[in-house]
This record gives sequence, structure tokens and C-alpha cells, in this order.
Amino acid sequence: MPRPITIAIDGFSGCGKSTLARSLADKLDYRYIDTGAMYRAVTLYFIRNDIELDDTMGIAQALPQIEIDFKPASDRDGKVTLLNNENIEKEIRGLAVSKLVSPVATISAVRRAMVAQQRRMGSEGAVVMDGRDIGTVVFPDADLKLFLVADLEVRAQRRQAELEAHGQSVTIDEVLENLKERDRIDSSRADSPLKQANDAIVIDNSDLSFEELVERAMAEVNRIID
Ligand code: C5P
Repeated sequence: MPRPITIAIDGFSGCGKSTLARSLADKLDYRYIDTGAMYRAVTLYFIRNDIELDDTMGIAQALPQIEIDFKPASDRDGKVTLLNNENIEKEIRGLAVSKLVSPVATISAVRRAMVAQQRRMGSEGAVVMDGRDIGTVVFPDADLKLFLVADLEVRAQRRQAELEAHGQSVTIDEVLENLKERDRIDSSRADSPLKQANDAIVIDNSDLSFEELVERAMAEVNRIID
């Protein structure tokens, strides 16, 4: 049996991280943790409960009430996100949450709560985790760190197709604006900004097919576990 490893996948929004992470987890029979979905779930909770982002007390009281989990599903996503046991997968993918999630993810108290939960979820290894700070903050000792990049236009088109597949129609300009704004906030925030870990392997996913991307990543996995 090859030893179970921890795989961290980071990168900008819409570079194909979650598609790759899901597929690697599938192939290796590992757990897949979508950390973006966790920040989205917190954002949805704040929206529903009218919690303002500058309400430090309200946020401190809310965080212990938020329980996030993942449940396997048979659809193309392979899992659904649960917020206090409610399936919120569809709602967290919409533009309302997408517009607010990066500001929410700048809040240190939110990050501390999510990182603690992510470390617990990945504590036994055999895990693929994707996000923005996995290789730098959550698992700085991950066995394999991949950093995905892709052209902005390609990312916007993929994201739009993904939203359409979830039954949501948005213009390419709206998607582009949202990606650019999230990139800006995610890479410039003070706490755990999105950046490439020194020991990450960069994969440019602009011109790769899905199969090529998976093959490229699996070659790195095999180099480690063989
Ligand atoms: O991966 P996804 O695009 O769903 O992530 C949504 C947002 O959550 C990101 O734009 C970022 O603001 C935040 N995020 C983060 N740290 C992570 C994962 C996501 O700050 N590890």
C-alpha cells in the first residue's frame, strides 16, 4: 500500500482547482475538502442572519454556531456542502454569495475558525484540500503542493459554464468582474493572502484539457507515493 499523503491545491478563482481536487480524491480514494465552500457557507450564514462584517461581537457569537460538513452525492460534483445539516450547495454558488465571500474571508476570526476545522478534517492525511492558503497556512508541510494558474478569459468562461450547469444565468462580464475583484481582495488581504508556496509546483491550466490536467497532477502524486 502506498502511504497516504496530504495534497494541497491553491490558486486564483476559477483555475480548475476543485475539478482537479475532486478527481484526484476520486482516483486515490482520498477525502476531498473544498475550503472555498466553507467560506461560502459562512458568508451565507452571515447574509441569512443579517450579520454585518464590521460586527466583531456578532461574528464572534455566530462562528461557534456554524457547523460545516460535506456529504457524498451522486451528481457531477460528487459532494454537497452542509451548513448545520442543511444542503446549501446550490445557494453558495450564486452571485450573492460570490460577491460577499472575499470580504468575509478577510476577517481573521473567520479564518481562524475555518483553518482549525480544516486542520481537524485533514489530520489523518489521505486528503486533497483546495483553497487559497492550504500550502502556505493550513498545511505548510503538505506532501504535495500544486498551484494552478490560468488566463482570466479562460477562467471566466469556465466559471460561467459551471454556473449555467447549476441553472444560473450570468453574463460573462459579471463573472469577469467578480473573478477580478475576488483575486484582488484575496491576494492583498493582510491575513493569509493568496500566494504561491515556495515549494509549490505551478501548473498552467489555460490550454490543458481536463484529462491532461489530471495526468499532469497524477505524475506529481506518483513521484511522491511510488
Ligand atoms: O474556491 P472558491 O472560489 O469557492 O472560494 C471562494 C472564496 O473563499 C475565495 O474567493 C476566497 O475569498 C475565499 N477562500 C479563502 N481561503 C481558502 C478558500 C477560499 O480565503 N482557503
